[in-house]
Amino acid sequence: MTTHIGSSYKQHGLPSPGPRGWDAIVIGSGLGGLTAAALLARHADKRVLVLERHYTAGGFTQTFHRPGYEWDVGVHYVGDVHRPGSVLRRAFDHLTDGALAWADMGEIYDTIVIGDDRYDFLAGREAFRARMKEYFPRQTAAIDRYVERIRATVRTTKRYLAEKTLSPLVGAVASPALRWPALREARRTVADVLREITDDPRLAGVLAGQYGNYGLPPGQASWFMHALMVGHYLSGGGYPVGGASRIAETILPGILGRGGAVMTSAEVEQILVEGGRARGVRLAGGEEVRAPSVISNAGVAVTFGRLLGKDVAAAAGVSPIVAGAPASVAHVSLYVRVNTDTTALDLGRTNRWIFPDHDHDRNVARYFSDPEAPLPLTYLSFPSAKDPDFARRFPGKATIEAIGMAPYAWFERWQDTQWHKRGAEYDALKARLTERLRGAIERESPQVAGAIDHVELSTPLTTQNFVGHPHGEIYGLAHTPERFAARHLRPHTPIAGLYLTGTDISTCGLVGALLGGSLTATVIARRNMLDAILRDEPGVPMSPVAAPAAAAAAQVAP
Ligand SMILES: Cc1cc2nc3c(=O)[nH]c(=O)nc-3n(C[C@H](O)[C@H](O)[C@H](O)COP(=O)(O)OP(=O)(O)OC[C@H]3O[C@@H](n4cnc5c(N)ncnc54)[C@H](O)[C@@H]3O)c2cc1C
Repeated sequence: MTTHIGSSYKQHGLPSPGPRGWDAIVIGSGLGGLTAAALLARHADKRVLVLERHYTAGGFTQTFHRPGYEWDVGVHYVGDVHRPGSVLRRAFDHLTDGALAWADMGEIYDTIVIGDDRYDFLAGREAFRARMKEYFPRQTAAIDRYVERIRATVRTTKRYLAEKTLSPLVGAVASPALRWPALREARRTVADVLREITDDPRLAGVLAGQYGNYGLPPGQASWFMHALMVGHYLSGGGYPVGGASRIAETILPGILGRGGAVMTSAEVEQILVEGGRARGVRLAGGEEVRAPSVISNAGVAVTFGRLLGKDVAAAAGVSPIVAGAPASVAHVSLYVRVNTDTTALDLGRTNRWIFPDHDHDRNVARYFSDPEAPLPLTYLSFPSAKDPDFARRFPGKATIEAIGMAPYAWFERWQDTQWHKRGAEYDALKARLTERLRGAIERESPQVAGAIDHVELSTPLTTQNFVGHPHGEIYGLAHTPERFAARHLRPHTPIAGLYLTGTDISTCGLVGALLGGSLTATVIARRNMLDAILRDEPGVPMSPVAAPAAAAAAQVAP
């Protein structure tokens, strides 16, 4: 079974919004776009049209299928959601009317494997701290300093994000005070701060061991990003019951039931700007659709580089390039099918982060200049073991994903070729990467070696093809210190009626996408959506006429 979430534009065309017309158009159905749409529908009575270029809604929360199996693309674990009452759990409960369940990953959410040494990251700040002290008994003061510094940095986030909702005029006055505490942390790299905290490079290498969650080694990544990510997972991780596609599937009814629509295979080609104001969009194929607000979830590079004509972008003074924050890293992902029951395999729910040694910056630099150098980072995830519903849906089976970094430049020369028809050299490069990632799986989980019956590798071109990111990037703009200093990464753009949303205006990850969507809805509706979420305000009731459409949100096709 293949789950296609949303309605196909190719098959059904655009629905009529009724005499009132659309109030807002959202370009892209990633979690950022869906969050903005759902909040505007619920709390501002907006009829929102979401346009998604792919055949299913959800952006990186999509899943894909092969007969009898299913894999996630961009969701392996989310911090805090397994704790009822946590802010993020309340946000998801609110957006999905409680229809999305989360499974706790248990005591150990991540294991850092450096050479032959293993370091478990335990759920709960004090448990984490204590276990780290067991591993590094001479570094107890450094570990305390680290935990406190994470906590202090996380505390600066609220004001930093609140500033993004201010109008440019008000912001100019209030900005410095709101942004400064976070920027003081953001302008340092992870390596800068870790050097202050500890003189033990092995401890520094372990503490930076989740850097794949933001895609930059410690010498390049902003400490602010690191602290937010570590803080996000400190109480452990959760996984969406039923797989990642449940996220979009359970958010859609709240949009459709309030007169909105989510159309797939609906690529936006251009944002229509007339008289200095965004008026709507033109779809590939030529159809135009209009609304007073246009919200782009497609990322800064696509929005300012492609969807606005060059002249319009130049006149508005916007650029797809953010100085010092290039496209984030690209990746290869090996999707593995195992013909044995997940429980019998005893794979465990813990993610593994595998490194050749503790010097992440050197390892990344070496690999990027020599593809045969040791893989600087291999991430293993066991989705079927994390999902308590997997065995019901796919009895007797298991899935594993192995992810590695891969510069887009290695694949660029095939960018104009077609999926599945890129030629022998491309296939050979894929075969080599497949062999290396498969080797990592079989070393870590030898019990699966004889039971693997299918492997399939995605490359940066796959990401480019399916999610539209120009350089196959995982996380939009790179999370460098410069990215956080860039003041224009916010919902407002210089073009009236055009707004940004999603991770490029906050940080990567589902939490970043959800926050990005909330910020944009806050700006457009001129009310604090995080407040509405935390109070779980019911908002506009579902329309009895539109409710049947909501029920058909997920169209399951054979
Ligand atoms: C391999 C991988 C693993 C990850 N693991 C995790 C994890 O474990 N936990 C976690 O929290 N995060 C994880 N992430 C990150 C997380 O998935 C993303 O940061 C987040 O989902 C991005 O949300 P978004 O709304 O900003 O954008 P996206 O999900 O990128 O959505 C943007 C959407 O816009 C659409 N679009 C683009 N151009 C157009 C156009 N012209 N017309 C119409 N539609 C368009 C795209 O097709 C896409 O659907 C992972 C990401 C990857 C790639």
